[in-house]
Parts: sequence; structure tokens; C-alpha cells
Amino acid sequence: MFLRIDRLQVELPVAPEADPRAAAAVQELLGGRFGEMSTLMNYMYQSFNFRNREKLRPYYELIANIATEELGHIELVSASVNMLLNGPRKDFDKSEDPATSPWKGLPAGTNPHHFIVTGQATLVGNSLGQPWRGDYVFSSGNLILDLLHNFFLENGARLQKLRVYEMTDNPAAREMLGYLFVRGGVHALAYAKALEQLTGVDLKKMLPIPNIPNSHFPEARKFEQRGVHRDLYRFSPDDYKQIALIWEGTHPQDGQALRVVDGPPQGGDLTQLAGIASSFAPEYAPQEIFEIASKLYNKATGR
Ligand code: MN
Ligand code: MN
Repeated sequence: MFLRIDRLQVELPVAPEADPRAAAAVQELLGGRFGEMSTLMNYMYQSFNFRNREKLRPYYELIANIATEELGHIELVSASVNMLLNGPRKDFDKSEDPATSPWKGLPAGTNPHHFIVTGQATLVGNSLGQPWRGDYVFSSGNLILDLLHNFFLENGARLQKLRVYEMTDNPAAREMLGYLFVRGGVHALAYAKALEQLTGVDLKKMLPIPNIPNSHFPEARKFEQRGVHRDLYRFSPDDYKQIALIWEGTHPQDGQALRVVDGPPQGGDLTQLAGIASSFAPEYAPQEIFEIASKLYNKATGR
């Protein structure tokens, strides 16, 4: 089962300008074949389907625990898409009167579903707007093959993140990307270490794929300077302690000690999305529902 914490794994900056083209590109990292929906669901289903869990517990716990981190990555990439669509706008900007066709000048590369379907917000699909698919999940039942697949998936995800980084310099995208370059590096190394224990094959010699270090990118460098590349978070109050049997030793890049961190990262506040009259979100004229919610709160708190 799952607990939920109402914070993002890392704080995201407000986008200095709305950027629907970048939002459409970042969708690939959410609902594309190598996106966060895919890493989440691959590891989640592999953990559900795991055989001989008690005899192979460290490997089960590694997959189950990383699946939980990926759930927060979906949240983080969604927040980035939403910030790119929101921009710095204030609540109910008067320039967006629905009678004036406020969206007629949207840039080429905008995903129309972001405007027509979701109210200028994220959707469960890729950069072409195609829906995420269950057959992106590989759960073969063979532990070595599943771990090898996960190593491949993390590196495919890294390749595509690097390419999306090349498509935008908007800080609401780049902060997320820098953080996830580093977290993906942890996951790729963790799967390589598991495979090395089980087979003797040292896959970590292949890393990084592609062969450019995370530290080349300022938004990733700052997280590495804080040691985030050495930390595997344990996303449970009491469980998954055997991940430390795999995540041990030193980091191949800088020789510093790998650490299991008990609990999630400190993270940052959820991003705030403005009300948009032209999207009728949360309503065209929301005063009435604001008042209902406010009365409810005041009643509950005795004000
Ligand atoms: Mn991820
Ligand atoms: Mn990952």
C-alpha cells in the first residue's frame, strides 16, 4: 500500500514565461515509452509479480522501493508541464476573455489537448499526444532479464531527457531535468550493482549512457555537489531496509560512499496553478465555489 506526502521531491521554479511548446516536449518524459509512467509501471508490476520474494528479498525490495520513487517522478514531471503551461500568470488575468479568442496565436508545436482537453495542464500521453500504453511494461518473471531491462530503461530515459533539455532553456523544465538526470543515474547504478552481484558482469563500466557526465549540466551539477547522486532514498517508514545490501560501497564516479537515506527527500512545496477564466478552470466565475469552500473551512475550524 502507499502513503502520500503533499510535497514535490524537489522544488520547481515558476516559469518566467508560459512555454506551451516546451510543455508538449516534456510530455514525452511523462507518458512516452521511456517516460516516468513507464519506469513506474515497469517496476511496480515487476514488484507485484515477483516470485520467491523471501529468498530474493534484497532484489524485490530494490525494485519495489525504486517504483515508489518513480511515483513521485510522475508528480514532478507533471508539475513541470503544468508550470510551463501556467507561466507567471496571476489568478484570472483579465486579458483572457473567452470572447476575444485568446488562444488564436498559440505557437507551432503546441499540443492542442493541453488547451482543449485538460485546461492547460498535463495529460497521460507522449509528445505527440499519443496515450501511454500498458505494453510499455516489461515484466517477464525472469529476475536477471527484468533487471537488465530496467538498466536499459533508465538509460533510454536518460537519453531522451538529455534531448528534451536541448529543446528548452525554461528553468521550470531544466530544474526538473537536472534533478532527474541525477536520480536516474542512481537507479541505473543500482540495477547495475544488482546484476553484478547476481551474474558477475560489471555493467556499471558502461555508464554513463550516452557518455556525457551529469556534471556537464549546471542544474544537475548542483545536486551532485549536494551528494544526491550517492543517495538511495528508502520510501517507507519501516520496510525495504535490505536495499542497503545492494546500495553499498562507493560511487564509481568520485569514490565517495553510497548512502541509503531513511525516508524521502526533504523536497519542496507543490507548485501553485492560477485560476484561468479562458479555460473555465476551476470555473469561469468561481466566487461562489470559493465561498462554499471558505465557509466549510471556517465551520470546521470554528472561525
Ligand atoms: Mn524516474
Ligand atoms: Mn528511474
